[in-house]
Amino acid sequence: MKYFSLNHKAPKVTFKDAVINGLAPDKGLYYPERIEKLPSSFFDRIETLDHDNIAYEIIKPFVGEDISTEDLKSILKTSLNFEFPIVDIDDNIKALELYHGPTMAFKDVGARFMARCLGHFSHHHTEEKVTVLVATSGDTGGAVASGFLGVKGIDVVILYPSGKVSNVQEKQLTTLGQNIIALEVNGTFDDCQSMVKQAFLDEELKSKFTLTSANSINVARWLPQMFYYFFAYKALKHTGKKLVFSVPSGNYGNICAGMMAQQMGLPIHHFITGTNANKVVPKYLNSGDYQTMSSIQTISNAMDVGAPSNFIRIRELYKNDFELLKANLSGYSYSDEETTAAVNQLKHAFDYTADPHGAIGYLALKDYFNAHPADDVLGLFLETAHPIKFLPVMPKFIAEQIEMPPQIKQLMDKTKKSKMISTYKELKSAIL
Ligand SMILES: *Cc1c(COP(=O)(O)O)cnc(C)c1O
Repeated sequence: MKYFSLNHKAPKVTFKDAVINGLAPDKGLYYPERIEKLPSSFFDRIETLDHDNIAYEIIKPFVGEDISTEDLKSILKTSLNFEFPIVDIDDNIKALELYHGPTMAFKDVGARFMARCLGHFSHHHTEEKVTVLVATSGDTGGAVASGFLGVKGIDVVILYPSGKVSNVQEKQLTTLGQNIIALEVNGTFDDCQSMVKQAFLDEELKSKFTLTSANSINVARWLPQMFYYFFAYKALKHTGKKLVFSVPSGNYGNICAGMMAQQMGLPIHHFITGTNANKVVPKYLNSGDYQTMSSIQTISNAMDVGAPSNFIRIRELYKNDFELLKANLSGYSYSDEETTAAVNQLKHAFDYTADPHGAIGYLALKDYFNAHPADDVLGLFLETAHPIKFLPVMPKFIAEQIEMPPQIKQLMDKTKKSKMISTYKELKSAIL
């Protein structure tokens, strides 16, 4: 499989180079040349396959010859060593919990797969050390730090906006040490992201290091996010119902992966994106006019993204056909007040503790069902992180009842190690 740049001004590359480069030299996102449908026999027998084998069938065409069957299978096995439970909420509503990995966020899936691929390539093909640069608005940093911890030949530099991530999130990315370096940026997530972008264009840095990104633009983080849509289908196939997925979205990598899964033949009836005040995509779906904005801070901070980097991939998937996209995707946005009310409602009506992102997924699913009532449709909202990661913004009485999972508890006693920076110059000297 070859990948081309969505800016169309860079050479095509194989999976390996797409993973190592992160972004194409013309600053475009990589995109696979072909998206092939899986054979119908795969869907006929999916309930007899385990998660590792399902994942292998899905990812194999995208990896091509760059990783041997045996190595790819072992990468998958260690990347996906946790559960993806589906929890009943209401009659036609379920939560797909993606947070049972080591850092309790869905980003563990992509981060672990990418770390293992990159570790594989660095070990087998290059003597050079690879430096991973990543900007995080909260959840990415922890998942990347944990995924890459101790991976030989790779250093990780994480930038996060000072004071804008929760205590648990900050501990997850600043306490590991070893090959993980945390930089606390005096600014917003967008500032972090633009510093990372600048580093990738810096000739001096590029001459000295192999720099890559672990943001969701990297194909090795983006593509494995297809897996759990298939896992959910496997679990619910026996119901005979059509499935709609409501995905709380920020950079639109997660939902885009779901759309890829659909393109590979996974029977998904419809997609819903829920978001906060950063409502670029819902607005676009209403007006046809795509206007990025400066990010607005909310209580669902992993979605505080004013210029969603993966949306261009969604457009490519739909060949820029607005009507076609609109027929497959509904979008809704919610205020912090509405989000908190939904967290409360889920607790009181269904005894379910959702984090603010999952709660937005739930709200969007309900609004979709109100507009499109149907008996033969099951809705799943993606619960993208454990509520413990968002304690400060959870209603107090719910927060008090959340038990601290063991992997979080042992973090809280560790000491934060990070360096405060304000400018690109400081980032550069930290890397150098
Ligand atoms: C990253 C994140 C999102 C947004 O996912 P995208 O792929 O960027 O759209 C939603 N919820 C949580 C908890 C996240 O960490």
